Amino acid sequence: MTDVSKLLPEARDLVDDAISLRRDLHAHPELGLQLPRTQRVILDALAGLELNITLGSALTSVTAVLETGRPGPTVLLRGDMDALPMPEDTGLDYASTVEGAMHACGHDAHVAMLVGAARLLRAREKELSGRVIFMFQPGEEGFHGARFMLEEGVLGDEGVDLAFAIHQTPGMPSSMIATKGGTLLASADVFSIDVIGKGGHASMPHHALDPIPVACEIVLALQSLVTRKVDVFDPAVVTVGTITSGTTNNVIPEIAHIRGTIRTVSSRNRVFVQQEIERVAKGIATAHGLTVDFGLVPGFPVTVNDTAVAEWVRQVAQELVGDGRVLDMPNPVMGAEDFSYVLEQVPGAMAFLGTCPDGVSLKDVAPNHSNRMIIDESAMATGIALYAAVALARSAGA
Ligand SMILES: [Zn+2]
Ligand SMILES: [Zn+2]
Repeated sequence: MTDVSKLLPEARDLVDDAISLRRDLHAHPELGLQLPRTQRVILDALAGLELNITLGSALTSVTAVLETGRPGPTVLLRGDMDALPMPEDTGLDYASTVEGAMHACGHDAHVAMLVGAARLLRAREKELSGRVIFMFQPGEEGFHGARFMLEEGVLGDEGVDLAFAIHQTPGMPSSMIATKGGTLLASADVFSIDVIGKGGHASMPHHALDPIPVACEIVLALQSLVTRKVDVFDPAVVTVGTITSGTTNNVIPEIAHIRGTIRTVSSRNRVFVQQEIERVAKGIATAHGLTVDFGLVPGFPVTVNDTAVAEWVRQVAQELVGDGRVLDMPNPVMGAEDFSYVLEQVPGAMAFLGTCPDGVSLKDVAPNHSNRMIIDESAMATGIALYAAVALARSAGA
């Protein structure tokens, strides 16, 4: 294995720049697939590194390729770029200046780390062979940005031998690294159930078909579905996030709307749970003489790390930061990731990087997607070094 132990001090030299870059993005978050300012910041930051750059057309992606000209593997490193539609309440000096948008998932840090890795690898170019693709991706938060980039050819003509991504999490001690082989993250699908009855006077429910109690019965039945029908060793989560119905106290409405999310960690369960929700909802509505319109919007597939690659990444990480700073991950996380699309096509892995701020306990820390989420930015040095270490080690045929 190539010597990656010196990468960490080199990455620390780059971390001040990474912090400024991250803070700039943090103050100016953008949502979805169109992130023109973020794209411009990335292009400015990569200027002078002599990378072959391709911009997306359906989305504001940046694909930057470091060509060594020497035969060798192609390694793809991915950083996502988008923020979330939510207010920020961190009180930071560099808090969001855009109302209703916040980098609450740390994708600002991912971009800054990937730029840092590009600089580090350019400086270490003589030790590389083949090529490194830096995949800067918009639209991770539910917009399937990775799928669009695959459709627009991010893997290139030669194909990719190894794909790797990092996700920061304040839920782990700072600068710790964790990954696992097999299923890492869940699938995430959105379901909708419209319970359709007959409106009427609240004082004469027998002349109406009230959708509200039926909707409530469906919500409770979905919880029994999960505990009674799903194998406990192949977990699933069904959460109803919204129920809306009615306008006032003395009117029985015609419709109740239920919206929720399904998380599973196997393709088998993914299909099973979708079908069962529809069956249960329709069955209960029928029992009361109402009907149901069922809808499903497929989200991201299950994120599956290649077992051998994940184990190899663990070894690289151990060499980089020491055994004690690489954590075992016994179970998948029920969050979802669209890097799953890349891992469906290329052997690869995703790892988590701890960013819990100093002096905050893991129990009290504000997690990803919280309006108070804060990260320990110094952990970005480990992220930069890990991206670079994976490319260098694979390049050396380790
Ligand atoms: Zn997120
Ligand atoms: Zn994220």
